[in-house]
Amino acid sequence: MCGVFGVFNNTSASHMTFLGLHALQHRGQESAGIAVSDGYDINLKLGEGLVTKVFKEKDLNELKGDIAIGHVRYSTAGGSDPKNIQPLFAHFYGGSFAIAHNGNLTNATEIREQLEKEGAIFRSTADTEVFIHLIAKEKEPPPSHIMLHKNDRDFLPLIFGAMKKVRGAYSLVILREKQLIAIRDPFGFRPLVLGKNRSGSFFIASETCALDIVDAEYLRDIKPGEVLVIDDAGLRSYFPLSYPEEPKKCIFEFVYFARPDSLIFQDWVYEIRKEMGRTLAREYKVDADCVVPVLDSGLLAAKGYSEESGIPLEIGLIRNHYVGRSFIQPKQEIRDLSVRLKLNPVRQVVEGKRIVVIDDSLVRGTTSKKIVNMLRKAGAKEIHFLLSSPPVISPCYYGIDTPTKEELIAANKTIEEIREYIGADSLYYLSLEGMIEAANKHRQKGFCTACFTGDYPVL
Ligand code: SF4
Repeated sequence: MCGVFGVFNNTSASHMTFLGLHALQHRGQESAGIAVSDGYDINLKLGEGLVTKVFKEKDLNELKGDIAIGHVRYSTAGGSDPKNIQPLFAHFYGGSFAIAHNGNLTNATEIREQLEKEGAIFRSTADTEVFIHLIAKEKEPPPSHIMLHKNDRDFLPLIFGAMKKVRGAYSLVILREKQLIAIRDPFGFRPLVLGKNRSGSFFIASETCALDIVDAEYLRDIKPGEVLVIDDAGLRSYFPLSYPEEPKKCIFEFVYFARPDSLIFQDWVYEIRKEMGRTLAREYKVDADCVVPVLDSGLLAAKGYSEESGIPLEIGLIRNHYVGRSFIQPKQEIRDLSVRLKLNPVRQVVEGKRIVVIDDSLVRGTTSKKIVNMLRKAGAKEIHFLLSSPPVISPCYYGIDTPTKEELIAANKTIEEIREYIGADSLYYLSLEGMIEAANKHRQKGFCTACFTGDYPVL
């Protein structure tokens, strides 16, 4: 749960990256960083907090150059130590580079232990640093079937070697003095897109909403397993690894994480999220007076549910936009606080009504319990709580901060026990088949659903 951005051939590279990161702020709010190259040197500015807090006009003006990468971070692997703020920078015998990562490596701990035994010294606890050490140490020649462009012969074999050793989820942007490189792991867990503007600048972003903000056109997705190099000689793609028959795109991106105005995995989040609501309405019919979304995450599913069921959509909960997403805050006590601060029921809408409340997912159950409680106090007669995804029963190891199995309510309680815990009159989760079918309506195939099934594509 991080956002990455890259730009090549733009005299305002740092400003463009600032805008891109701003559009990706929903993917991480803990820290932000930008690295810029002027063709000779790479300079960085990193800081804790929102993009607008970390970067002022003066900082962006000082980051001179026309190639840049940026990162917004939510800590998963490595915790929220300031040393883990990305992009990470390294200088080694082959030159300098900066790297920004969305995803989680499943074998980072074992690689790290091995490297430390061999004398490597790590400066952060982020799994991303494993890439840096692997790149610096790599000695293997590139695979014989790959013909490398002359600009790529020194550095790319090192990247290919590192990719061979790591497992898990990685959408990466790498900045070299004269190159921008984008990489997506062979399963394609996390999204990554390529765009271009009218002046010929190229952009890489986690989601297309970050292309929109810099007025760039979406060209295509970076493919699972692809290494895309952008420099003055043009764009070149390499596929150094053999990769699985099917990708394993994170279906939770469609359920919750990605912005609804984004196109990810070649499809519109808005449409799929709404389709999940329509499918929910076909699966679970309720005699009710109105459908109330838990804003903002449940809005589109609620719209789909309302359209399919004919039950009117009402905004019965108002969200205070000056509070961040509760799920994205790393500490429990801050999460609790932000839940209380962020939503308030509209008494005129819910009083005396039988309402269908729709949210995207139910993870710990604490937020849902508070919402039901608030709605009851506001006079709701019946509360039917519906989720546009199945029960979350297993943690994510691919870069989403789901809690441990012990904290996942659906891993420890039956649906009836959860209903009782949150205090709703009824509780229904979209079926796994229904969720996949909703996503497949738009030609999507090959999803990771491990947090709903415990069936992990790679560990
Ligand atoms: S485990 Fe869940 S959240 Fe993690 S990548 Fe798979 S679908 Fe996405």
